[in-house]
Amino acid sequence: MHDMANAMFPPPDIRRQIHDGLAARLEASETRRASLPVTPVEDLSDFSKALKAYDFDRPVDLSQLLDWTVGAMDTGIVQMSHPAYFGLFNPAPTLPSECADRITASFNPQLAVWSHAPVCVEIERHVLQAVARRAGLTGDAGGHFTSGGAEANYTALVCALTRANGMYGAKGVFAFAGRPVFYASAESHLAWLKIAHQAGIGRDSVRLVSTDGSGRMSIEALMKAIETDLASGCVPVMIVATAGTTNAGMIDPLEGCARVAEKHDLWLHVDAAWAGAMIASKRLSPALQGIGNATSITIDAHKWFATTMGAGMFLTARPDVLPQAFQVAASYMPSNLQTVDPYVTSAQWSRRFLGLRLFLSLANAGWQGYAEHVERAVDLLRRLGAAMSAEGWQVANDCRAGVLCLKPPVGAHPPAEIVQRVVASGEAWISVAKLEGGDVIRVCITNGTTRESDVDALATLLARTATDRK
Ligand SMILES: *Cc1c(COP(=O)(O)O)cnc(C)c1O
Repeated sequence: MHDMANAMFPPPDIRRQIHDGLAARLEASETRRASLPVTPVEDLSDFSKALKAYDFDRPVDLSQLLDWTVGAMDTGIVQMSHPAYFGLFNPAPTLPSECADRITASFNPQLAVWSHAPVCVEIERHVLQAVARRAGLTGDAGGHFTSGGAEANYTALVCALTRANGMYGAKGVFAFAGRPVFYASAESHLAWLKIAHQAGIGRDSVRLVSTDGSGRMSIEALMKAIETDLASGCVPVMIVATAGTTNAGMIDPLEGCARVAEKHDLWLHVDAAWAGAMIASKRLSPALQGIGNATSITIDAHKWFATTMGAGMFLTARPDVLPQAFQVAASYMPSNLQTVDPYVTSAQWSRRFLGLRLFLSLANAGWQGYAEHVERAVDLLRRLGAAMSAEGWQVANDCRAGVLCLKPPVGAHPPAEIVQRVVASGEAWISVAKLEGGDVIRVCITNGTTRESDVDALATLLARTATDRK
């Protein structure tokens, strides 16, 4: 046996053997997955015992560890890549994005500075500019890949504060004559509260503007909130329009928000974390009409673009603000090129090559491939909506994106109970959401392998579970 310090960095023949073994093991797992339950086994006692046995006092063979890990994942998680996962926006990952992770892991490039990984930074820039153009941002748009939508939204707030007051970077909130505030709808993604906390302006600075009864931000309420804040000495810095709310996929009036932002000279951020993928489809993108007026946009690659987890995008028509917000001079860094080194234009420092996931997926499928991907999801949900309507259910949202909200008929179990029964069956994963104050059953499709037969099976399961007496 070779010495254990070198077990972490084995010679080529052993490395090859490990790679091949893992590839075969994963392939077998993926092929079997659709026939196993979507939900994890609930009794984790065997797993916990096995986990405790790893006390790190003695080395364990890598093949054995990999086998154990894949086996645990087979039964121990909600399966995102199961065609009956109708859950949150967690996709079955595209094969090109899986390949990207494999390549990135092998080279482990450092994207903090352009000069360390010029090819990687240029690939990212190329795909970001294509996405920004497709979204309708004109001129010299910029941006970067992020860990996800929350980091991209955080970036928007830091940019908005920096643009509103040049002294924010040095003095923080004390730079402002009054409390800096920003506006997002009551149906917006509540990471905004954490973001306000992190940025130091405090959670009370998030103005949750009421919606219009259908889950969209009310422009009238937005204008009133801004007037009230101005009258009391607060300093509005940003309007957030959500394009695709988490609960119901509603899209705020983007053009109305743009008019208000222009009137008050505010940063307009469009949070299109998942529904932004509809830019791929000529049929669906009209729902996003006006998104190109944004000062910045969040679109996640790891949601409806279906890359592996941990990849968002921050896109902006004001790339000049990024170095103002994130610049720093570090003498040990190989360069400090004010606009091209990602570490001086974004929140992260060391940076993984995330953009390769979307580059390979988009280059492989083309916009047309992604158009078909998002259209298929919407069509499948329409099919489900029609099937449930025929059973006396009500479609509760104006579903133009990949989420369907359903209300069961009178006399059926309440939504939470139906969802609990469906999830316990292991046959499908759905969730409960609140829409305009009431509970609804939420069904979402981001999985590119979900087919009509999966949706029809869910319709049958829902109808049966709604009145089931056991
Ligand atoms: C998912 C989501 C977020 C948060 O993004 P993460 O990628 O989970 O960090 C923010 N806004 C919206 C509208 C989302 O759907």
